Amino acid sequence: MSFHQAPKADLERGVSTLGGRRLVFHCHHYNVFLQRTIEDALQERAPGLLVAAGMEAARAMLQGLEAEAASASPAEALRRAADTFAAQGFGRLDVGLLGAGGGEVTVAPSHYAVGWVSRWGKRPTPACFFVAGFLGGVVAAAYRLAPERITSRECTCVAAGDERCSFRVEVW
Ligand SMILES: [Zn+2]
Repeated sequence: MSFHQAPKADLERGVSTLGGRRLVFHCHHYNVFLQRTIEDALQERAPGLLVAAGMEAARAMLQGLEAEAASASPAEALRRAADTFAAQGFGRLDVGLLGAGGGEVTVAPSHYAVGWVSRWGKRPTPACFFVAGFLGGVVAAAYRLAPERITSRECTCVAAGDERCSFRVEVW
């Protein structure tokens, strides 16, 4: 059973929305170029910004989806988030170990890792900042937590030569 909800297209205005938030589709070329530009400009400050941006975008969109049609449980909200993530082409999240206290998550394949490697090859550090942020937003939305209580980081990344992309979400 899929919990995915399709974006709404307003053809009169030329605007697509998901959970009441505007949605723009970009290919991996655009996404990894944008990320590289931000990393080049901000250096060590880039990861925090990229994760925070991903978290806020996900949290706002998922809260919007919950406002339109509430999930029956936090577990269902997690599945909806994973299905929505996959439907946008970012990869398949395994959120089976995720709960109110956070947990471990994997994604396969990761749009950002595959995109980065296809454009520039391997890198020395994990690349999937958006995914880490998205997962923080998922936990915030599913358990109605303040985003300040959540940290999320990528532990292993295909773009850095690891077998898979894995993430650790922690709730404080
Ligand atoms: Zn990765």
